Amino acid sequence: MTKALISIDYTEDFVADQGKLTAGAPAQAISEAIDQVTRLAFDRGYYVFFTIDAHEEGDDFHPESKLFPPHNIIGTSGRNLYGELADFYQAHASDSRVFWMDKRHYSAFSGTDLDIRLRERRVDTVILTGVLTDICVLHTAIDAYNLGYQIEVVKPAVASIWPENHQFALGHFKNTLGAKLLDENLDEIKE
Ligand code: ZN
Repeated sequence: MTKALISIDYTEDFVADQGKLTAGAPAQAISEAIDQVTRLAFDRGYYVFFTIDAHEEGDDFHPESKLFPPHNIIGTSGRNLYGELADFYQAHASDSRVFWMDKRHYSAFSGTDLDIRLRERRVDTVILTGVLTDICVLHTAIDAYNLGYQIEVVKPAVASIWPENHQFALGHFKNTLGAKLLDENLDEIKE
């Protein structure tokens, strides 16, 4: 079994108090856990893919332009990773197992070559972390399911601004997409 951790949108714009589309406190609360599990996955020899929203200023053709305020604009600090995770990326950016991918839509598979890179490396299991549980993480999980990957979601390393949506998504991962939910040690949570 070959695994990759997919780190989704844990950026200043989605997490920091001053972020352009911030989830605020719930997203900040996972800062330590997302850093810990990313380091753990890397230390275990898994691949680590940072898949990060990338928008262009004034791109009226993008469907999100009618849904959300501008965020994660290319060239702005809003796209920087938040907290300790930024330090991890800086220290390991040149490692052959660490990737940065600009994504076009919610899913990590939209507008990226993530699927190709995973298949080249015979990755069959994706471990999902990041924000928001019910938007970008959920859309990534659904694409991963349709593409035939085994899915694992680190429960303490995903967050949403809406508690009920967060709970719905966790249930959907497990009951509809057949995902395993993992704890901060990447062990399966048995409920
Ligand atoms: Zn976006």
